[in-house]
Amino acid sequence: MKLHILGSGTCIPYERRGSSGYALRLSKSTILLDCGNGTTWKLGKVGINYLEVNHIFLSHFHPDHTADLIPFLFATKYALVKRVKPLYIWGSRGFKGFFSALNNAYNDWIQPDKLNIEELDEGIMKFDDFTLISGKTLHIDSSLAYRIESEGKSIVYSGDTDYSESLVELARDSDCLIIECSMPDKLKVKGHLTPTEVSKIANKSKAKRLIISHLYPICDELDVIKVIREQVDAETILAEDLLEVEI
Ligand SMILES: [Zn+2]
Ligand SMILES: [Zn+2]
Repeated sequence: MKLHILGSGTCIPYERRGSSGYALRLSKSTILLDCGNGTTWKLGKVGINYLEVNHIFLSHFHPDHTADLIPFLFATKYALVKRVKPLYIWGSRGFKGFFSALNNAYNDWIQPDKLNIEELDEGIMKFDDFTLISGKTLHIDSSLAYRIESEGKSIVYSGDTDYSESLVELARDSDCLIIECSMPDKLKVKGHLTPTEVSKIANKSKAKRLIISHLYPICDELDVIKVIREQVDAETILAEDLLEVEI
């Protein structure tokens, strides 16, 4: 599996980090985890044709995780070269209603051929070349974390969350855990993680590698990665937009 970090930031405009988006290339599938603003054009930057993406899994409906669905689908609809593979966009319960509201606002401009809008819940689903396990997180009602297993490797994406034992279980012994770290310890915000909470989840889950992401600018100013590295044994990577990681 190859991971491309497209956006390692949040809703805050920040020249170093765009909103959430991660592309995963598997043997057959190309997957997007979240589609925050800026995701679509950055796919091109990392050499992925957006028409090859066949699954988008949304962690929750906040704009910094979903706003680029609009340019993505508009571009898909009006592409000169038509999409070959069907496109499946997955969100938690309520996603069909959420999409239908977007569709009303944008007429049918975001309704290309071969689009499938799907809802999912906690549980396990098997696809051609991967297995997806989803688990609830503590952020907003619609929020899920995902574990993707393929080619004998596993990667977990926390989405946005507060400290959660279910995330510890989902991430158990995974090869790579992409985990949010929105705020430094002294500025804890409910529904998000601090470096010390990230470290606790990392140590309890025994994830082999960590990618620290969803960083507000203050996290770089206060060097949260240093705090995490002092507390965990696992290899710890600071996410950067356009960084490529072999899983
Ligand atoms: Zn967010
Ligand atoms: Zn959020």
